[in-house]
Amino acid sequence: MNRSWNQPFAPVQIAEKTWYVGTGGLSSILIDTGEGLILLDGALPQSAPLIAENIESLGYSLRDIELIGLSHEHYDHAGGLAALARASGARVVARAPQAEALRTGRPTPEDPQYPSREFPAIEDVDVIEDGWRVTMGDIRITAVATPGHTPGGTSWLWTDCIDEECYAIAYVDSLTPISAEGFRYSDGTGDVLRRTADIVSNLECEIFLAPHPGRFGLQEGGSFIDEDGCANYAASAVARLERRLAEEGAE
Ligand SMILES: [Zn+2]
Repeated sequence: MNRSWNQPFAPVQIAEKTWYVGTGGLSSILIDTGEGLILLDGALPQSAPLIAENIESLGYSLRDIELIGLSHEHYDHAGGLAALARASGARVVARAPQAEALRTGRPTPEDPQYPSREFPAIEDVDVIEDGWRVTMGDIRITAVATPGHTPGGTSWLWTDCIDEECYAIAYVDSLTPISAEGFRYSDGTGDVLRRTADIVSNLECEIFLAPHPGRFGLQEGGSFIDEDGCANYAASAVARLERRLAEEGAE
């Protein structure tokens, strides 16, 4: 685990209703719909108190969180969710592989990084499908299946405004081909990841966010409007995948 991942980090406003409430190295996104909060990702188990503090520093109560979603089912993004779900009483939604991982507290056996690290489990999870969407207050949010880094990888799309200009926001899951020893991306998961990269590069995406904030320049501050963000992210994932497949071919 990277030490910087759990550094406290003050909330950053991304758009009118959208806040970064994660740590210095792991994203957690809060959306104030006007009819309850949506929270995406909980970083590490030990990040939950930092995220809770960030949310409260904005004047919200954890009980205001109505919906919790996840990018992917690894300890560094799902780890804090059990505590945050418990404290908020929010509904937790997840695609099937994510739900299985959340209920057991470990990635599924199909996961490239299996067994990876365990994390606190969540018993009560509602399974959602690719394309699931919900409207809460002023926000309509859509879940898009983007597997490859994990089987359950999911990206989240909504629209929010800055100074009366509205933007398509995409919180795009990790696309990196990393695995436990012995796993081969050339055995099919590489094709899955390639299809996902294609989906990501075609998303409506004017503000690009990702589970690791270094990928969208959080620390540099300033504007997050980047119409090429998704396409660039997808292209770098494909380049990395090609290197990985070449390495596997050379084995
Ligand atoms: Zn991961």
